[in-house]
Amino acid sequence: MPADAAIVGGGPSGLAAAIALRIRGFSVAVYDARRPPIDKPCGEGFLPGTAPALRELGLELGSLPGIPLRGIRFIGGHSSAVAVFPVRQGEGRGVRRTELHAALVARAEDLGVQLNWDHPVSSMEALAERWIVGADGIQSRVRQWAHLGCTEYDSVRFGFQRHLAMAPWSNEVEVHWGALGQAYVTPVGEGEVGLAALTHHHGVRLPEILAELPQLTARLRGAPLTADRGAITARRRLRRVTSGRVALIGDASGSVDAITGEGLSLAFRQATLLATALQANDLEVYEIGHRALARRAQFMGALMLLLDRSPLLARVTLATLQAAPPLFAAMLRLHLGEATSPPSRTAQPAGREASSVRAKQSP
Ligand SMILES: Cc1cc2nc3c(=O)[nH]c(=O)nc-3n(C[C@H](O)[C@H](O)[C@H](O)COP(=O)(O)OP(=O)(O)OC[C@H]3O[C@@H](n4cnc5c(N)ncnc54)[C@H](O)[C@@H]3O)c2cc1C
Repeated sequence: MPADAAIVGGGPSGLAAAIALRIRGFSVAVYDARRPPIDKPCGEGFLPGTAPALRELGLELGSLPGIPLRGIRFIGGHSSAVAVFPVRQGEGRGVRRTELHAALVARAEDLGVQLNWDHPVSSMEALAERWIVGADGIQSRVRQWAHLGCTEYDSVRFGFQRHLAMAPWSNEVEVHWGALGQAYVTPVGEGEVGLAALTHHHGVRLPEILAELPQLTARLRGAPLTADRGAITARRRLRRVTSGRVALIGDASGSVDAITGEGLSLAFRQATLLATALQANDLEVYEIGHRALARRAQFMGALMLLLDRSPLLARVTLATLQAAPPLFAAMLRLHLGEATSPPSRTAQPAGREASSVRAKQSP
């Protein structure tokens, strides 16, 4: 007998949707063309807001193998500005993508989700389930099949990623701004650091982006690197994310630029929303809620892309943020969905020396 819902794509969003639906009693079958551990270029940095979203799915961000993150540092030209996460939001976390995927797979298995790996879906007609969830990523075919490809806006950039076998030097996500794009560094393990780079320049690769970032290249000198891997990231909003018995989730449903660090957190929140909507047998609940969920991240993404397009504006902004740390803290609070008015005591800059990575790790 067919399950209640078929989920095309067993990446983070597909698994999150499967878990959320199982929790509400739906029977669920997931189909993915690949087999775990499924990896993908990713900054691997999770903002504090990811923790409550994962908790809804029965997972604890702080228990995933990784490194706690306490804030974000922007570095560019002669400027370096830091904002720490507000205390009440808790820590973020740097987690290898494969570790996250393994934890989601284990949770889905525990709940009794049918997991069909090495199982590409080539048409919707092949799926007899009542509901179809397209969780098949940025190039979604389900989106095409359901004629949901119409966009309100769309801006694509190119992303690269590698891992470095070296001890993390900070508990912050460092975003280095250069003439050709941004590189961001996330500690993901005791002896491992993730390096992701983003550019809007077609044909530009990681080495060229790094060549414009002398502080970072000095830091990385001599570190053994894995091969770099590429993927696209897009700031994209669809006109609709549901049609008939089909709903899209994660990157298939539109996306925020990778620099926001919000793609996965959004997908986890969408998963819970989708399950609530299907429980109410009303996809319009998801349609409306989906739009509202992405609004803040889309706004911050647009701001970041503005700086990406103008190196001069980026330099001036970084110098301003360095000179006015409460401003950067307020921006971060806005990004995290907090009211900006009451100045929190965390608005003050934290000296780099104030926290050693080792001292900050979970017991
Ligand atoms: C360089 C870069 C850095 C990023 N950094 C961050 C970050 O720091 N933090 C963050 O939160 N987000 C980040 N993102 C965004 C994040 O990676 C995505 O939002 C996330 O991968 C979306 O997950 P998904 O499950 O929707 O799609 P995907 O991870 O792409 O999964 C889609 C799955 O569908 C499967 N599939 C596709 N077609 C079919 C088919 N026809 N049949 C069966 N299976 C199919 C694929 O095999 C795949 O497993 C970054 C992205 C890039 C490119």
